[in-house]
Amino acid sequence: MAQIAFIGLGNMGAPMAINLIKAGHQLTVFDLNPDAVKTLSDQGATAAEQATDAVKGADVVISMLPAGQHVESLYLGETALLNAIHTDALIIDSSTIDADTARKVASAADVQGKAFIDAPVSGGTAGAAQGTLSFMIGGKKAHYERAIPILEAMGSNLFHAGDAGCGQVAKMCNNMLLAIHMTGTAEALALAIRNGLSPETVSEIMLKSSGRNWSLEVYNPVPGIMENAPASRDYEGGFMVNLMLKDLKLALDAAASSGASTPMGSLARNLYNLHANQTDNNGQLDFSSIFRLYDKERS
Ligand code: NAD
Repeated sequence: MAQIAFIGLGNMGAPMAINLIKAGHQLTVFDLNPDAVKTLSDQGATAAEQATDAVKGADVVISMLPAGQHVESLYLGETALLNAIHTDALIIDSSTIDADTARKVASAADVQGKAFIDAPVSGGTAGAAQGTLSFMIGGKKAHYERAIPILEAMGSNLFHAGDAGCGQVAKMCNNMLLAIHMTGTAEALALAIRNGLSPETVSEIMLKSSGRNWSLEVYNPVPGIMENAPASRDYEGGFMVNLMLKDLKLALDAAASSGASTPMGSLARNLYNLHANQTDNNGQLDFSSIFRLYDKERS
């Protein structure tokens, strides 16, 4: 069993860290939010005062932070965590960030002879809690192979996407597609409701027809259709609209710099921006709350 430092214990990081404890690993944890640290220390983790304390003696370091600037600042900036990590340790960043930052940190680690992989995840907070996440990994194959026994405690699908940064490229493409099919699903359901169908019936029909997709299968955006979906708890928890906007920006920035055309991605970003700006709170809601843009009464 490994000695693991886990940094970033939010909606995703906390359940991932709990699964590592359940698998028998020793965890030392750090988050800027003391309440998040307390939740994990109550589950048997050792609380660290600073990120640099958490990595002392760690075989594996895992970070799960909001965005690229947090990851760069943690490893290379003021905290300079990279310097504090043991040369033989494996560093896994599971945050969803831009591929350039992932490559920058990987290359700084390489210069110091340390192993770093980008390993963003898909599967949401439910997948994190159930240990069924998909990991998309970028970095040297040998580093990926070392990570397998650790990642298996948190996920059920592991993919080596390619060299450093490739995990992040896979993730931004996946999330752009997710935003597109979630907005499309919300739009189709609202149209059906307005034309006299019940959302239960039309969801059931589309699930057995060619409109079937992940949003319909596990994340129906209409309140009351799926007991465990964020739509049925006022869009609380889950994956925040602001984080989806961050991921859409990553995809569109990459499209601009590579010359790729992403008209559907641009439209999805505009719709999410519009939705986020409609109230002070929408940015903090789950991303399936885009349904409110189409049907204010029911949601
Ligand atoms: P979150 O905002 O709930 O958690 C982030 C945590 O990082 C917070 O607890 C925050 O206090 C902590 N933090 C920030 N800077 C820190 C620092 N320098 N040192 C220590 N702790 C720090 O976010 P989340 O929903 O857990 O998402 C984390 C990442 O996973 C994001 O990149 C997100 O895009 C990605 N992701 C989220 C989901 C989801 O469904 N929520 C799904 C897949 C991927």
